[in-house]
Amino acid sequence: MEIKFTKAAALKEKPVDETTLGFGHNFTDYMLVMPYDEGQGWHDPEIRPYGNIELSPAAMCLHYGQTVFEGLKAYRTADNKIQLFRPDENFKRLNVSNQRLVIPPLDENLAMECLMELLRIEKDWVPHTEGTALYIRPYIFATDPYLGVKPGEHYLFMIILSPSGAYYSSGLDPVNIYVESKYVRAVRGGMGYAKTGGNYAASLIGQDEAHKQNYSQVLWLDGVEQKYIEEVGAMNIFFVIDGEVITPMLQGSILPGITRKSAIELCKSWGLKVTERRITIQEIADAYDAGKLDEVFGTGTAAVISPVGHLKWNDKVMEINGNKIGDISQKLYDTMTGIQWGKIEDKFGWIVEVK
Ligand SMILES: *Cc1c(COP(=O)(O)O)cnc(C)c1O
Repeated sequence: MEIKFTKAAALKEKPVDETTLGFGHNFTDYMLVMPYDEGQGWHDPEIRPYGNIELSPAAMCLHYGQTVFEGLKAYRTADNKIQLFRPDENFKRLNVSNQRLVIPPLDENLAMECLMELLRIEKDWVPHTEGTALYIRPYIFATDPYLGVKPGEHYLFMIILSPSGAYYSSGLDPVNIYVESKYVRAVRGGMGYAKTGGNYAASLIGQDEAHKQNYSQVLWLDGVEQKYIEEVGAMNIFFVIDGEVITPMLQGSILPGITRKSAIELCKSWGLKVTERRITIQEIADAYDAGKLDEVFGTGTAAVISPVGHLKWNDKVMEINGNKIGDISQKLYDTMTGIQWGKIEDKFGWIVEVK
């Protein structure tokens, strides 16, 4: 399918100081837009100047949340190649989310072609400083001007790009996490496994409470008994107990992270014992009391690996590994970011170069 290109009258200044980029504030010169109309399918992809879009005040996405999204990054290597980490997994997952939200599937090759073309045009926006990347946000939303509740017949698929700063300015700082025991994020049979705005909307109140108590993120428990550990809302969670790497199994309420999957594959390749199973928060507290909780870390595209320094469950505050990053967390971080930035050979075939 041909991708139409509409040139911008003028290009923006690229950020000069890449150390102050932060996350999600700056956007590049262009964006990709592709409509879906019932009867026509996905058609007429266009790369056009980044800017506001026109939407009916009745657009269904605004009222009933029929939206899905993805998140990945483009990395610049020392020899100025631009590369992506397992992007095929993102478009595969986008279609899983689409299926759950009754959004028509998107040809994964077409989506990839759209992304590659946009990146070829915008490659100068991939920042150069150590630890920085160009964050990529593909998303889909229903645009039908209609207040009835039903799946849309008209959608937009869009991709916007945002140069982002290094997640950690001074090494891998452990984060403090608060176990939420009042609210839940998702339930089995719900949309927990889909990357959709509604899951985030459900999580804001917990996040707010955590911040009030000086914790940066929330660890969610299962929606039925609030006993079993699920995830951190934008990260999956791992525990190292007595040398064994344990992470909650995927059973519908947890987002299947690509960083999670990669961490499991790496740990197995190192001969570590990795177990995906249901695990209760009580079990974690018991392991902590027995001195067997070696490491806790989160996995996600944004931070890659986030060591947990403190875990608060009701009145119990667990300090993990003396509030220092553990060996497995550090090795996973070094290996994964090493592959992403082209410093370490990619033995797994995870890297896709933008040419
Ligand atoms: C995106 C996301 C993650 C992390 O997934 P990655 O593919 O590793 O970036 C974890 N949990 C939720 C709820 C997410 O939306």
